[in-house]
Amino acid sequence: MTPQLIVLPADRAERLTDIHRYFPQAAGPGLSQTMRGGRAAGLQRLAQVNAVNYAKSRNYLNGQVSRLSPFLRHGALHANEVVAHALAQHGAQAEKFVSEVAYRDFFRQAWYRFQTAILQNMEPAKVMLGQQPLPADLSQAQSGVVCMDDVVKQLHTVGYVHNHARMWFAAYVVHWLKVDWRQAADWFEAHLLDGDLASNHLSWQWVASTFSHKPYFFNKENLVRFAGDAHCKRCQADCPFDDSYEALQQRLFQEVEVINPPYPKAKQASAISVHSSRDDLPVWVHDEMLSPQHPLLNTTQAKVFIFDPALYGHWPLKRLQWMADALAEMPEVALWLGETTAVWQQLGVRQVQSQRSPQSKLKAVSAGLQVNWVAETPFTGAALSEHHLMRFTRYWKKVAPEVMGDAYRG
Ligand SMILES: Cc1cc2nc3c(=O)[nH]c(=O)nc-3n(C[C@H](O)[C@H](O)[C@H](O)COP(=O)(O)OP(=O)(O)OC[C@H]3O[C@@H](n4cnc5c(N)ncnc54)[C@H](O)[C@@H]3O)c2cc1C
Repeated sequence: MTPQLIVLPADRAERLTDIHRYFPQAAGPGLSQTMRGGRAAGLQRLAQVNAVNYAKSRNYLNGQVSRLSPFLRHGALHANEVVAHALAQHGAQAEKFVSEVAYRDFFRQAWYRFQTAILQNMEPAKVMLGQQPLPADLSQAQSGVVCMDDVVKQLHTVGYVHNHARMWFAAYVVHWLKVDWRQAADWFEAHLLDGDLASNHLSWQWVASTFSHKPYFFNKENLVRFAGDAHCKRCQADCPFDDSYEALQQRLFQEVEVINPPYPKAKQASAISVHSSRDDLPVWVHDEMLSPQHPLLNTTQAKVFIFDPALYGHWPLKRLQWMADALAEMPEVALWLGETTAVWQQLGVRQVQSQRSPQSKLKAVSAGLQVNWVAETPFTGAALSEHHLMRFTRYWKKVAPEVMGDAYRG
């Protein structure tokens, strides 16, 4: 592919059409107005966050969750400003919300530490897991189990699914259908607007029990309590969830012998070494840096974002459009279409700087280019060991005093 400099129109509808033209193979519908990408939309959402109402209602599908995840995932907002907003409004009462935001950092730090090993069992499963493929009828929202089909429809259309629905869906897929969690996690992540290897794959592992003390599962009573019974009214299926926890435990996990992971842990890629930022280097903007406020953009050097098919060619259309919305707020960033190294070669550049990331793909596409990886603005300065990074409770105990500051209650 010959590198091509592209200019995205300021008009949003035209911009979204252009992205579709550049990525004709991108699957799914376009991005809706309600899921507009970029920092301005993120700040609007942040202003609506009420951490106290969040704590009371977050488990309900119609609860006051923030929907900030795509903004945090792509760097349009930083977790520190989200936490500062919540603490300024509600102090100690914001702890539940702040700890959920911290969950993201916990997974990310685990990703930095364990690297590609997060894509395999982190520890032995506590129950028998299966290796079935994801059934085609479910991945097409045609399984007949309406509450699960609806999750798939949301994935395909808006790309946002409530946390509780993600947990139910993953439990259904892993424990009822005995699907290989790794295949299901790859598929699920590829459809999300907030798709993130660490938050996604480690959450699937938490459900499966390969990154937790026990498997997560649920029953119909729990689902109806938090989702209402609208799904059930439309459902003709013999409900697989309609039982007590004891009976489901028996049914789902009757095999008592636990087989240790049949897969060897993935070989860890070597860690990226981190450097200080440099005024003399052009900036390679990637998908975790989509904010005009990003510290590395405060330079007179060239700033370049590359729609590299090796990185983004498999992303759904709505997510590419989300990024285009964000990039439209960053006019000083030149946009290119092509292979990362070929673009820099065309620009006559051999050394660039960029924000460090645990994504091994970024390292792979920039092989041959000298990249000065600059540390991202940290969420916490706490020294975290492997012990802290294997369980969120340990992580939170360690970082909460610093993250909560004066609002820390202990
Ligand atoms: C099977 C499964 C897959 C998931 N895949 C992803 C993923 O690919 N990307 C992703 O960002 N999150 C993922 N999550 C975590 C969580 O579901 C989403 O972050 C959350 O639902 C996003 O909605 P929100 O912004 O309204 O969250 P809120 O509840 O309003 O929380 C505020 C922010 O805190 C962070 N957060 C909250 N809960 C979690 C959590 N359990 N884990 C990590 N971060 C959290 C998110 O950044 C979120 O935006 C997954 C969870 C499960 C169970």
